[in-house]
Amino acid sequence: MLTATKLTKYYPDVRAVRNVSLTLDAGRIMALVGESGSGKSTLLNLLAGLADADAGEVRFNDERVVGPSEKLVPGHPQIRLVPQEYQLMPNVSVRENITFALRYYEKNYRDFRVNELLRLCRLTDVQHRLPRQVSGGEKQRTAIARAVADRSPGSAGVVLLLDEPFSHLDLPNRLIVRDLLFDLVQHDHMTCLFVTHDATDALSIADMLGILRDGKLVQLGSPFDVYRQPATAYAARMTGTANILKAKHLPALGLPKTDDPDALVCLRPEAIMFDDTGVVGTVRAVFFRGSFSEVDVELSRYVCVRALTNRHGLRAGQQVGVRVAAESVWQIGY
Ligand code: ADP
Ligand code: MG
Repeated sequence: MLTATKLTKYYPDVRAVRNVSLTLDAGRIMALVGESGSGKSTLLNLLAGLADADAGEVRFNDERVVGPSEKLVPGHPQIRLVPQEYQLMPNVSVRENITFALRYYEKNYRDFRVNELLRLCRLTDVQHRLPRQVSGGEKQRTAIARAVADRSPGSAGVVLLLDEPFSHLDLPNRLIVRDLLFDLVQHDHMTCLFVTHDATDALSIADMLGILRDGKLVQLGSPFDVYRQPATAYAARMTGTANILKAKHLPALGLPKTDDPDALVCLRPEAIMFDDTGVVGTVRAVFFRGSFSEVDVELSRYVCVRALTNRHGLRAGQQVGVRVAAESVWQIGY
């Protein structure tokens, strides 16, 4: 549906997006994860046709999406960007912000659709307030409602691009927005691409997960595959807690030596089992996380790993046994 081919964007002193190619299929959710400055916002602006690429192209279905230098009104009517700072109109209500996106429709349909969106986005109770009088989560939902309001019947579906939709939100609001995006894709046949610096939400709803680093798309796969088999230490860290070790330290975990002692391996915390018959280590710290605890276990002078357990009562200084299945160790690149 939306494809980018070798997309590149330079700023005077940085290459913000480098040679990015990707395909977003209709009805899917793609998430791109990268640290601050990795080119996420620049890439979204290119995909939306709001900025000019220095090389490469964007196509929506079979149409070329062109930037402001080639088109007076930049962008594409079916590609909707929800900016990170929402950019709501400050002097009109939540309701009027959404209504504005439907200004070319007749009043009956417009009222019907706005009420439907207010309900779907849980904004009915705050519809008459100004943006500055509602919470961050409500602002985010207003921006999403406005972006998806116009369904232009008969045309191809809408692609929703979101810039860090979760970053300003507390946990309950993150879950509401996550479920809303999931619903829009499942029931309204939308297609969605969002960028984020935190993969937690991405892992749970995305069909495809990409890793952006210094403007390059360095890995793309299902969330399951990228989480289990990250290509690099960066990809491993961007997708959750990861123990990154040199292969020569594997024997401290009771695992066999490998050919290349300097190779890096990644081991997710849940792959480490507490088992009294395993290798012995010392608990260094315990972080209670609610339904589980994170436990740092020192296994040798050079190896301290983070593990998970739902066992309570572990204390720093205590001796524990741990065991790791060889198949949960994944070799990664630098
Ligand atoms: P992210 O959204 O991942 O934080 P951005 O796309 O905003 O990353 O920025 C990518 C890189 O491009 C950064 O190094 C940033 O400093 C730089 N950059 C972004 N916008 C501009 C601009 N308008 N002019 C110059 N450099 C920019
Ligand atoms: Mg950004």
